[in-house]
Amino acid sequence: MDDIFDLIIIGGGAAGFFCAINAAEMNPAAKILILEKSSRVLSKVKVSGGGRCNVTHNCFNPFILADHYPRGSKALKQLFKIFQANDMVNWLEKKGVSIKAEDDGRMFPTSDDSQTIIDCFLRLAVAFKVKISLGSAVTHVTKEGSFFKVQVNTTIHEGRYVLVATGGSPNRQAYGWLESIGHVIVPPIPSLFTFNDADKGFVDLMGVSCASAAVRIEGTKFAQRGPVLLTHWGLSGPAVIKLSAWAAEHLHKVQYSFVIQVNWTEFEKEDDIRVRLMKQKELHPTKKISAASLFGLPQRLWDKLLALAGVEEHWLWGETPNKNLNKLLENLYRCRFTIKGKTTFKEEFVTCGGVDLNQVDLATMESKVLPGLYFAGEVLNIDGETGGFNFQAAWTTAFIAAKSMMKEQTD
Ligand SMILES: Cc1cc2nc3c(=O)[nH]c(=O)nc-3n(C[C@H](O)[C@H](O)[C@H](O)COP(=O)(O)OP(=O)(O)OC[C@H]3O[C@@H](n4cnc5c(N)ncnc54)[C@H](O)[C@@H]3O)c2cc1C
Repeated sequence: MDDIFDLIIIGGGAAGFFCAINAAEMNPAAKILILEKSSRVLSKVKVSGGGRCNVTHNCFNPFILADHYPRGSKALKQLFKIFQANDMVNWLEKKGVSIKAEDDGRMFPTSDDSQTIIDCFLRLAVAFKVKISLGSAVTHVTKEGSFFKVQVNTTIHEGRYVLVATGGSPNRQAYGWLESIGHVIVPPIPSLFTFNDADKGFVDLMGVSCASAAVRIEGTKFAQRGPVLLTHWGLSGPAVIKLSAWAAEHLHKVQYSFVIQVNWTEFEKEDDIRVRLMKQKELHPTKKISAASLFGLPQRLWDKLLALAGVEEHWLWGETPNKNLNKLLENLYRCRFTIKGKTTFKEEFVTCGGVDLNQVDLATMESKVLPGLYFAGEVLNIDGETGGFNFQAAWTTAFIAAKSMMKEQTD
């Protein structure tokens, strides 16, 4: 029985490694094998967070944390009760990796180096004698009696439990072998991207950022608030990336061709902006309208909006016709961009779609189709906003899968 593993993990990424280490820690006698198709393990961890690895988010309330996931939020509300962001921070600290939070809530190793996480995982995998096989792409899994047969080319690996941690892929074929064993795959599409402005009307403002804007997809309820960055291709920044995640399915349906409205101000209501403009006109009639921006807007953006409203540089507030102020109001509150296409955000992207959660027991991460087969990470139809949420879903699902499998084994 020497070559029968207690646990075979398909995919040597974030979820696969985290499950292997935790399973080994819970049951040191367990024989664990990681099968990784590429020549390197943890390659996404390496490049993540611009090489710093945004390992989780500084949000330690399971319910609020789960609200950051456009897909899988309901399931995660339960799963985070068992293992959430705080548990991951504690886990890493116990293993000697100290973690810091940045002002926007993103959490990184204090080394600011993703290699710290990789070194930690590799050290533990070696210590627990986890076997790692590179260049091992799994093409099929079957179950005969109590044992799985996991196929890599012509080699068959046998195991008692199998964890599928193959990550996301925009390519439906990557999920073919899971479909062949009866798992329903929610069609995979991209999430987390920026928008391409067809008219390039704001290209001269590239690099300008508005700290608190509201973005809305015209004709829909999809809306977000936060910083918006003007780029040479269109719109980016946290509000835009968040919007891309929440509207991923809709935007795919319309083939990334849509109109976005930007409210550049902090005011929610158009009337409040109008009142502010009229008050300025009344109180400062002899001031040049272009002298200082209102609503805390960057001056260059303010100048651009004035130009679009036909306001001349030398005009005073008092002499600016209401017709132009109304146009300014329109561009402040409902600045329209015609979007055609998307661009990847800092190379970071995740897959919306994957293994349908209805066929997974969400208390254990076990397949309802093939008992003994478990899932963790982005292969599931779970994805979050940018900010450490995607790794957190991988850690949580991997931890719960490890706990369930090792509990069954030691019971
Ligand atoms: C550039 C980039 C930066 C990112 N930065 C962050 C960040 O800072 N914070 C954050 O929270 N999220 C980030 N993400 C998202 C995050 O990396 C993923 O959500 C996370 O890695 C998912 O973990 P996983 O283990 O499910 O999949 P992965 O980490 O992708 O691992 C899956 C592994 O399975 C292997 N595999 C696939 N198919 C097979 C097969 N058939 N047989 C054997 N092996 C197979 C793959 O080669 C891969 O190594 C980033 C994503 C990208 C692309």
